[in-house]
Amino acid sequence: MRSSPILTDLVLVGGGHSNIEVLRQFAMRRLAGARVTLISEHSTSAYSGMLPGHVAGHYEADEIHIDLRRLAAAAGARFIRARAIGLDPDARRIELSGRPALAYDLLSLNIGSTPNTFAVPGAVEHAVPVKPIDQFLRRWAELVAEFTTDATGKPLRVGVVGGGAAGVEVVLALSHRLGAETDHSLTLLEAGPQILAGLGPRARRILTSVMAGRGISTRPGHAVASVGPTGVTLDDGSHLAFDITVWATGAAAPAWLAETGLARDEGGFIQVDDHLRSVSHPEIFAAGDAAMIEGTTLPRSGVYAVRQGGVLADNLRRELLGQPTRPFKPQRRFLRLIATGPRHAVATRGGLALSGAWAWRWKDWIDRRFMARYATLPAMGEGHAGEPVPALRDHDVADVMRCKGCGSKLGAKPLSEALARLSSSHASVALSDLDDAAILTPPGGKTVLQSIDFFPAPISDPWVFGVIAANHCLGDLHAMGATPWTALALAQVPEGSEATQSEDLFQLLAGAATVFETEGVQLVGGHSIEGDEPGLGFTVNGLAELGALSRKSGLGDGDVLILTKPLGTGALLAAEMRGQAKARWIDGAIAAMQRGCGPAARVLLAHGATAMTDVTGFGLAGHLVEMLRASDCDAELFAGAIMRLDGVEEVLAHGVESSLAPRNRQRALDHLSAAGQWSSVDMGVLSDPQTAGGLLAGVPADRAEACLAALLAGGDDARIIGRALPKQGATVMINKGEC
Ligand SMILES: Cc1cc2nc3c(=O)[nH]c(=O)nc-3n(C[C@H](O)[C@H](O)[C@H](O)COP(=O)(O)OP(=O)(O)OC[C@H]3O[C@@H](n4cnc5c(N)ncnc54)[C@H](O)[C@@H]3O)c2cc1C
Repeated sequence: MRSSPILTDLVLVGGGHSNIEVLRQFAMRRLAGARVTLISEHSTSAYSGMLPGHVAGHYEADEIHIDLRRLAAAAGARFIRARAIGLDPDARRIELSGRPALAYDLLSLNIGSTPNTFAVPGAVEHAVPVKPIDQFLRRWAELVAEFTTDATGKPLRVGVVGGGAAGVEVVLALSHRLGAETDHSLTLLEAGPQILAGLGPRARRILTSVMAGRGISTRPGHAVASVGPTGVTLDDGSHLAFDITVWATGAAAPAWLAETGLARDEGGFIQVDDHLRSVSHPEIFAAGDAAMIEGTTLPRSGVYAVRQGGVLADNLRRELLGQPTRPFKPQRRFLRLIATGPRHAVATRGGLALSGAWAWRWKDWIDRRFMARYATLPAMGEGHAGEPVPALRDHDVADVMRCKGCGSKLGAKPLSEALARLSSSHASVALSDLDDAAILTPPGGKTVLQSIDFFPAPISDPWVFGVIAANHCLGDLHAMGATPWTALALAQVPEGSEATQSEDLFQLLAGAATVFETEGVQLVGGHSIEGDEPGLGFTVNGLAELGALSRKSGLGDGDVLILTKPLGTGALLAAEMRGQAKARWIDGAIAAMQRGCGPAARVLLAHGATAMTDVTGFGLAGHLVEMLRASDCDAELFAGAIMRLDGVEEVLAHGVESSLAPRNRQRALDHLSAAGQWSSVDMGVLSDPQTAGGLLAGVPADRAEACLAALLAGGDDARIIGRALPKQGATVMINKGEC
């Protein structure tokens, strides 16, 4: 399907309760010409309503997390997993940790808040804040495990600081989680005169009596003055000994907002008008905990973040279309359902409060229905990309319609802008705009090796794609033992305005440049075109002594086969395309593809590698067979030793695979002895085409263990997966076990 030209960039920062609704609305109705990008620190987002149930042990982690990758794909949005650390409103760029800033035309901030640990000495170092929740759960599990292995025989003493609804739900959930099995004591501390000050007296009475019934002691009326490794000191000087101090106090605004120049209230939260628009920067909207509507004092609550989502989505769309936006009218009173630990809850609205298992079932039904809204959406590609481009504010589609008579070449302005930005930030970029061709003079007597690859983006993050494309293209040089030297780029960016094309080209090449810098490669030229989707490839040149090259043909009888990366990128990316992959699986695949093969190649060569190849499009079986043919050997593979990326077995078991896999499998079958002994999942793994895959190398048997140890020490996820055998007829034998 031909996509519409990109006229404007809407960037959503944070996958909080409001921005997910923006994505959902875009999934149902896209806006041609407007490109949406979600930047989130994590690829899933926890739903606050189910947090206490998860802490109590009623919900699995997957049940309370919204899969942001999948949601973004359904909305036709790019997903960028990164932490925002700053904002340059003048240049309209959002600054990201560890990678270049990203341009926006319209920005929506929904980045939440964290319990305020900064105000109390020692809290940052010694307390465990309840948010971010994943961090809390990890830290909590570590501390409990440490305590259990400590085997002191003393009860686990837990203090929870903050007697609002969140603190009470957490203390009750922890009491249920710790149960009778762990000898423990729980204390809830509150600086104000009473706990649950925000609730009516009846709800407060019920919850207080539930806590008393569970043996939870409550200490209102004393502020925590400091936190240390052994507990807390109160403002009256008394010390309470805790093994774990959990922090669930009032919310603090994300610290990085202080440097952005955005108007903020006295608490540091982004000041917005009732249309959720920054009062200082009209092109920036904000919602949820991180924002405060001028003239109001709304409590930090997921309920408001959720309700603002609909207005935010509508206003962003209206803003893009140049239409008037509408106000958010907060509801003053709403039903609250507070979980008490077991499958039991308190329902309260205004002065009314009732409790029971029915209230839990009601809450559970509401929460599951909420989650289902973000889980059952069309998969990527089932889009509306062909619809006509509407009249977007400040943009005319006629400006970007091209005749293609120019060979789809990118215009001079976006090209020169992107390259100037790139050259200023990356020393590895040595582009000359004066000459028509790069002039290369290989240093004395060296042989030049060349290789080329190009492919469309398998993921929506352009910078990460740049990293992966560079790794993929350099794989051939690493496999041959060459030192990468120079690269020529072929970059394809989607049709769009000059600004979006310049930004896209910059992001693609900046990602690649980080790899080139590490490997000492100079980017000396290239060609850029526009097309329906982003694509990137490189002609890479490497240097080597002719006699020192590593070839596929060098494998000898008895050599041990080492693989340096787990397999499965093909099947996982295919699953993502169909909306069937979990976010964490794709995170794992991307992390593997982002790791270059240079360090592994150098270790393998230092340990006398006799033959090497990079595992890419033909899959492990295909590339191994090529190596065996060239070396006139057979091989034995240890099925149990072949590493698989997390999730690949699940997707293959569901029949999802890359479109190239059946051909790879057919080709492999001709060379596998006893192929019937392999399960269909094993066959799928063997024939899965890899993007930026690992190296497969033969190493002399007496050096294999040392080589493996060095690879693991360098951070490669390498394993011994088989050995070379003398030629007997069948090419690859199967051994079902480990090596
Ligand atoms: C234990 C507990 C229980 C609660 N229970 C309830 C409840 O039952 N009902 C209720 O209404 N409220 C509840 N709350 C309050 C609720 O959690 C918050 O009000 C709500 O999460 C705020 O939503 P949000 O969308 O503003 O932000 P969040 O839900 O916090 O989402 C912010 C997102 O932005 C991402 N992010 C943050 N910073 C960055 C960055 N720099 N770069 C990129 N991404 C970033 C985060 O990873 C996160 O995904 C509870 C809070 C706690 C602590």
